[in-house]
Amino acid sequence: MVKFLDLKAINEQYQVEIIDAMNSVLNSGWYIKGSAVSSFENNFAKYCGTKHCIGVANGLDALILIFRALIIQGKLQEGDEVIVPANTYIASILALTENKLEPILVEPDPVTFNLSLEGIRSKITSKTKAVLSVHLYGQLAEDVSQYCKEHNLLLIEDAAQAHGAKNKEGQKAGSFGMAAGFSFYPGKNLGALGDAGAVTTNDKDLALLIQQLGNYGSEKKYHNSLQGLNSRLDEMQAAILDVKLKYLDQEITKRRETAQYYQQHIQNPKINLPKWDPEVKDHVFHLYVIRCQKRDQLQQYLSDKGIQTVIHYPIPPHKQEAYSEWNQLLFPLTEQLHDEVLSLPLSPLIAHQDLVKICDQVNNF
Ligand SMILES: *Cc1c(COP(=O)(O)O)cnc(C)c1O
Repeated sequence: MVKFLDLKAINEQYQVEIIDAMNSVLNSGWYIKGSAVSSFENNFAKYCGTKHCIGVANGLDALILIFRALIIQGKLQEGDEVIVPANTYIASILALTENKLEPILVEPDPVTFNLSLEGIRSKITSKTKAVLSVHLYGQLAEDVSQYCKEHNLLLIEDAAQAHGAKNKEGQKAGSFGMAAGFSFYPGKNLGALGDAGAVTTNDKDLALLIQQLGNYGSEKKYHNSLQGLNSRLDEMQAAILDVKLKYLDQEITKRRETAQYYQQHIQNPKINLPKWDPEVKDHVFHLYVIRCQKRDQLQQYLSDKGIQTVIHYPIPPHKQEAYSEWNQLLFPLTEQLHDEVLSLPLSPLIAHQDLVKICDQVNNF
C-alpha cells in the first residue's frame, strides 16, 4: 500500500529533537506565551523575510484575525468587497464572511489554478477594497502587489500551503502584501503535532493589534482594550515547529525532486500534468495535482492497485451547503477543476520504488 502521506514517518525523523524540545517545555512550567513561542515567531519571520510573525491557534484564525484587525484599524469596513479565487479551500472564504466582508469569487488562471491579475481586473469595482490571494498547492500566485498598490487595494496572502515558496528575486510567500496567514496543520509542509498557525507582516501596528486580538484583546493581563478572542500558539507546538523549521528547506527540495520525477515519468494522454518553471523555486509542492476527465475512475483504479490519492477539493466553496446563497452561481473553470483534480502521493520520504509503481500505474490507466 502506498500511502498518500505518512506523517508518522515524517515526524519520526526528528523524534529525538522533538522529544527534547517537548521536555524542555514540560520542565519550564510555562505553557502559553513564553520563550518557545517568541523563538519560533522570530525564526519564522526571518525565514519568510518579514519583520513580524505572530503565532496563533490555526490557519483559519490567522486569516480571520488579519481581516478583523484591518476593520478595527478602519482600513476595511463591513460590506467591503474582497477578491478571492473561487477554487480555494473554504477557510479563505470563511475568514471573509466571519468578518462580514463580501467575497467576490473569481475564476483562477487555467494553468496555475491561482488568482491572476486578469481575474482581479475582471471583477474590480469601486467597492473592492482588498485581494486575498491564495498560493494553492504550494505554488506562488502571480505577484499582484504593484497592481494592488496602484488601485488602493490591500493585498492579503493565504500562504497556508506555501511556506518557503519564493520568486526569482528570492522573495517568499508571506511577504508580498499587508499580511499573510499560515497554517501549521499536521499535513502542511511545516506541520505541528496538532493545530497551529501564524500571521506574518511588515506592519508593526498591525502585528501588535493581531497579537492583542488573539489574546483576549489584552495587552496587559486582565486589562481588555478590545473584544478579542483566544487564539494563541502554545509553547509545545512552537517548540516542535522550531525543530521542524530547520529541516523545511531540505524537505521542500525532496518534494520538488518527487514532483520532477512525476513530471518526467507520467505519460498518459488522458492526464494533464501541473505546469511550473523548475528553474524557479516558486512551487514548494504541498501537493502534486494532476487532472483527468475520468478522475473518479482513475482514483478507483489507483486504489485497487494499492495507491492512495486525495481530491483537493471535491466541492468548491460556492457549491457548499454552508454558502447555499451562492449555489446557483456559475464558475465553469472552477467546477471543472474540482471534477478533474487528483493529488498523487507526495512526501519528503516517498520511496523510489513507490514512485516507479505510481508512474507505471498512472500510465497504465
Ligand atoms: C489549511 C488551509 C487553511 C486553514 O488552516 P487551518 O490551520 O486548518 O485552520 C487555510 N487556507 C488554505 C489554503 C489551507 O490549505
